[in-house]
Amino acid sequence: QVRDPHQPEFMQAVREVMASLWPFIEQNPQYAEQGLLNRLVEPERVIQFRVSWVDDKGEVQTNRAFRVQHSSAIGPYKGGMRFHPSVNLSILKFLAFEQTFKNALTTLPMGAGKGGSDFNPKGKSDGEVMRFCQALIVELYRHLGPDTDVPAGDIGVGAREVGYMTGMMKKLSNSAASVFTGKGLAFGGSLIRPEATGYGTVYFAEEMLKHAGRSLDGMTVSVSGSGNVAQYAIEKCMQIGAKVITVSDSDGCIVDPAGFTPEKLALLMEIKNNRRERLATYAKELNLTYEQGKRPWHVPVEVAMPCATQNELEIDDARTLINNGVRCISEGANMPTTIDAADLFIEAGVLYAPGKASNAGGVAVSGLEMSQNSARLSWPREDVDAKLHAIMRDIHQNCVRYGQRGDTVNYVDGANIAGFVKVADAMLQQGVY
Ligand code: NDP
Repeated sequence: QVRDPHQPEFMQAVREVMASLWPFIEQNPQYAEQGLLNRLVEPERVIQFRVSWVDDKGEVQTNRAFRVQHSSAIGPYKGGMRFHPSVNLSILKFLAFEQTFKNALTTLPMGAGKGGSDFNPKGKSDGEVMRFCQALIVELYRHLGPDTDVPAGDIGVGAREVGYMTGMMKKLSNSAASVFTGKGLAFGGSLIRPEATGYGTVYFAEEMLKHAGRSLDGMTVSVSGSGNVAQYAIEKCMQIGAKVITVSDSDGCIVDPAGFTPEKLALLMEIKNNRRERLATYAKELNLTYEQGKRPWHVPVEVAMPCATQNELEIDDARTLINNGVRCISEGANMPTTIDAADLFIEAGVLYAPGKASNAGGVAVSGLEMSQNSARLSWPREDVDAKLHAIMRDIHQNCVRYGQRGDTVNYVDGANIAGFVKVADAMLQQGVY
């Protein structure tokens, strides 16, 4: 049943999951009962609202914002907020749908949601970002709560934005209950949350390679993006002994054959996170070439980690990577690989992990942040990292359990089926509502 032909990203995400589920459901027909699939592809609730705020010139700006509360089958709605001019309902519905399976894979009791706005934080002053965040929460606060819906960050939403939204949420609800994750450490944030998605993506690559009798240590890696996920993927790769030779943003990429060092990463973080400048500045300061309009997939590597955005790795990029000998793809971003490119990787025997498995570390540590907040405790860094690592290993095992095909593992099938089974069992037990 095609209800949303005008929502291409959402259709793409549903098509990918259904292709995995169909053969499984034929063998397990109990999952076709209670109209389960039709219910699963329909968000429980979608909220769309206006956000009006005053810019530094005193002019009124109006943005559009959404919260897609996709599934509460296994816990409160949980998923990030994205601020980017491209945000629309199709993109947020695809993200919330994917989040449903991802959150189930973490083994933690979290339902799924996603939200955001077409607000563009680039070039805005701190005051403007604050006023926008506050105006957004003035509407959204009534739909949030620690046992109802717990948002976090995503593209364009980092610690600064989460802080502003948390502050206004507290004021309006007259409650200090933590309804965001990714908070600052001083007010309930968890150690390792900023690192979690990037670290988890690398831990997952390590598990895939280990399972195939190889090691990430000593391999060359291309990373796309240069934001939160990319930065910590680079850090963990370096710690493990892999060499990261690319980085990118929405305008172009940099190839650095000498590879990242801790000093170079510190400079990248300073430029992107503190100075809020562009990647081109990083290239200039290190005398590297900024390849305008290019993505990093033309560079020969053994491992690729797309960490920027959806559909950033297309079929021609996949062909080039395969011809250049790539062995493993671990997605830090959500749905960065188009369906035909992903199929090509799988056909070519490349170890290919979909984001819903490999980038689940972020939301997993968000789940751990919720636990710490409930217990009014804060766990040491090593403890959270060890828990993250264990969760990524569990997700890998679960993908192998459902995705083993002969002597290879189809991680797309594995992730989709493992996530589905948990959500579907919960839905069947709770009846039709
Ligand atoms: P950031 O905003 O920190 O960084 C995003 C990066 O991607 C930037 O380098 C940005 O470049 C680039 N980018 C954004 N849009 C585009 C585009 N349309 N084309 C090319 N490049 C683009 O976001 P995150 O690092 O948090 O998120 C990156 C990806 O990871 C997203 O897909 C997100 O959904 C996913 N993810 C994030 C999690 C988290 O914990 N943060 C958890 C799980 C998944 P520029 O600076 O030019 O905009």
